[in-house]
Amino acid sequence: MAKKKVLFECQHCGLTTPKWMGKCTNCGAWDSFVELNEHQQEVVKQTKSTTSKSTKAISITDIVEEEIYRYSSLDPELDNVLGGGVVPGSLTLIGGSPGVGKSTLLLKVGSNIASLGKNVLYVTGEESAGQIKLRANRLKSNEDKLYLLSEIRLDQILVELEHRSYEFIIIDSIQTIYSEAITSAPGSVTQVRQITFELMRIAKERDIAIFIIGHITKEGSIAGPRVLEHMVDTVLYFEGDSSQELRILRGFKNRFGPTSEIGVFEMRAEGLVSATDVASRFFNRNSTQSGSALTVIMEGSRPIILEVQALVSESHTPNSKRQATGFDNNRLNMLLALLERKLEIPLSGYDVFINITGGIKITETAADLAILAAIISSFRDRAISKETIFIGEVSLVGDVREVYALDVRLKEAKMQNITKALVAKKPLEKSPIKTFIVDEVTKLLEWY
Ligand SMILES: [Zn+2]
Repeated sequence: MAKKKVLFECQHCGLTTPKWMGKCTNCGAWDSFVELNEHQQEVVKQTKSTTSKSTKAISITDIVEEEIYRYSSLDPELDNVLGGGVVPGSLTLIGGSPGVGKSTLLLKVGSNIASLGKNVLYVTGEESAGQIKLRANRLKSNEDKLYLLSEIRLDQILVELEHRSYEFIIIDSIQTIYSEAITSAPGSVTQVRQITFELMRIAKERDIAIFIIGHITKEGSIAGPRVLEHMVDTVLYFEGDSSQELRILRGFKNRFGPTSEIGVFEMRAEGLVSATDVASRFFNRNSTQSGSALTVIMEGSRPIILEVQALVSESHTPNSKRQATGFDNNRLNMLLALLERKLEIPLSGYDVFINITGGIKITETAADLAILAAIISSFRDRAISKETIFIGEVSLVGDVREVYALDVRLKEAKMQNITKALVAKKPLEKSPIKTFIVDEVTKLLEWY
């Protein structure tokens, strides 16, 4: 008979070892290891390796294309980030800091789907059914087919599923639900994994779309969500915190669609709802201050006009500060070095701060030119006209490179009544707006 295998798991980060440890070597937590029983070890094995089954290669011509059926959640921004709508039988994680609006969004979506005639179950382990009812009144989300279950025990949730056939389930939140079969506390790695595993089984077996809410705390303590990221089909995270009016839901993983799309939501008195007129929400046309420049970035298939703000001020410390919010700090340092070398702007004695408005994070290089323009504008204290946008990647040697989807970006700018654009050298044949061609960074100076 084979010797019984012993396995311990850190309840903080999920590290497994054959030996008990007082302090986790991975995350540094103390006294965080528990012993897993055989069943739990099996779950760990199943969820960690995908190569356990032996399979044979088949010809690509013999593979039947998987057709994905989806239905609209009646929430345009959520549909967008999901890649077109809700996929039955899929398991989706929505993560974000507490108070960002996850519960209100999903309650509203739940009632939307109930209004389509589907049975929806909202499982709340956070709040009482009464509190959810109050929120539903505010959101005008009272639908006959939306059912509330105030429960934290997984086996009781499973019992409820025997009573009625549901098509959409919301779990609020994964950290509060626990399985009595496991001794560790709710929210611990073992619990979260076991529950996610069960929910995945339910979703697949019964073709139910399940949305799981996961809280991410300030300290980055993400015991729950990060462990289950690789188990679920789709992972969506809210960016930013509850202080911002616009909240961005970004796809990190999506088995059924692209991960490049985002959803933009706004906080209103009644709760978090799809933002309207997204393209024009991230910039202020009326600002006449120096240090502000406009650009157009692509978020998935959608162009969004952004305002880039720069503040250049004399430094009073030996080491000048360079700080960017919503933009890569290393890239900022590169652009600043370029300004010093190519334009001979003496920035070494200055602190430079960059901020992208609306809490959006720029992940593409098309905004380089706008960053430079904003910095020069602040340094010279001369405002840039809001009739102009800057689109272009700046290379290390100081030339401006073309970016993809330029025509889409320019069309969006025109829709927002922007009349001029500074772009890389390669004139567009049918540019919708007047483009000024910048082929070197030095040409920027001619503008100020
Ligand atoms: Zn650990």
